[in-house]
Amino acid sequence: MGISVENVSKHYGSFHAVDQVSLTIKSGSLVALLGPSGSGKSTLLRLIAGLETPSSGRIFITGQDATNKSVQDRNIGFVFQHYALFKHMTVRQNIGFGLDIRKASKLRVKGRVEELLELVQLKGLGDRYPSQLSGGQRQRVALARALAVEPQVLLLDEPFGALDAKVRKDLRAWLRRLHDEVHVTTVFVTHDQEEAMEVADEIVVMNKGKIEQIGTPAEIYDHPASAFVMSFIGPVNVLPSTSQIFEGNGFESTQPEIFLRPHDIVIQREANGTTVAARVDRLIHLGWEIQVELVLDDGQVLTAHLSRERFDALKLEPQEQVFVKPKDAKSFPLYYSI
Ligand code: ADP
Ligand code: MG
Repeated sequence: MGISVENVSKHYGSFHAVDQVSLTIKSGSLVALLGPSGSGKSTLLRLIAGLETPSSGRIFITGQDATNKSVQDRNIGFVFQHYALFKHMTVRQNIGFGLDIRKASKLRVKGRVEELLELVQLKGLGDRYPSQLSGGQRQRVALARALAVEPQVLLLDEPFGALDAKVRKDLRAWLRRLHDEVHVTTVFVTHDQEEAMEVADEIVVMNKGKIEQIGTPAEIYDHPASAFVMSFIGPVNVLPSTSQIFEGNGFESTQPEIFLRPHDIVIQREANGTTVAARVDRLIHLGWEIQVELVLDDGQVLTAHLSRERFDALKLEPQEQVFVKPKDAKSFPLYYSI
């Protein structure tokens, strides 16, 4: 039994920050709440934590109705983006803080702190003060502090948001490994789709206070439930369905727009049945793949991604003519703009 959110709404005046959300989070899983800024992720997390009271609906934690329980009674650990550690306390004292205030014995605190220092790979730094740590190390201390009291649930609100890209990437991988060891039910808020896909077992995509889709990273990427999800979860070309690239190849749609991933565009040297002519406008080397900016005869601009292998085989040069067709494309009955 993990967390169950049943029909929960949170209104601020007439504004619905969280709107009729229902969600089940399996015990021991790591779930990401993913969405743009303002989509209600933090509000939903704060509702689960008990830092906000729902306007309506119920929240169950490990099978018990927690809707009216205080924060303290929910046995939850938190880490926020700017979770200030206690500056005047050492790393050890910070990690042990929650156990100290719960009046755990000195021996127990000492043992648990050493265990956690090892778990978050900060052995040897226990006597430092937060000002003597890097940003990434501080967030690991915050995580150790949250885990110290053995919470039933761990809630992380953009915990790596303030760190630079390289450190973020390292910490994501580290968090995933840590979770595989500790298995505490974890809800992780992020606006970064790559971060959500790398870390989470399951992703909850949020938009305007509502859930757009729940699924594994692969389900959400390969079978997006809406235009919003398809656009948010990866790069996409949004083309009018009247574009010549969709003529005669089975991707026609009665919807006004068709969504085409850059890696789902086939580029070839020769025309055949369903290809259309395009001009290579620009080539951008992204390292492991090449981004090709194309212009169709009708003036439609298109972004394609090619593997390095395919690019080398084609030997493309700017301003050359090529022939293109979609390998896959999607359209959706309802269109929400981001
Ligand atoms: P996210 O974490 O996805 O960026 P939030 O949950 O923080 O989004 O906020 C969702 C929406 O609710 C935002 O438009 C925000 O301005 C609004 N909101 C959040 N908290 C309050 C509050 N205490 N009073 C009024 N509006 C709020
Ligand atoms: Mg937020």
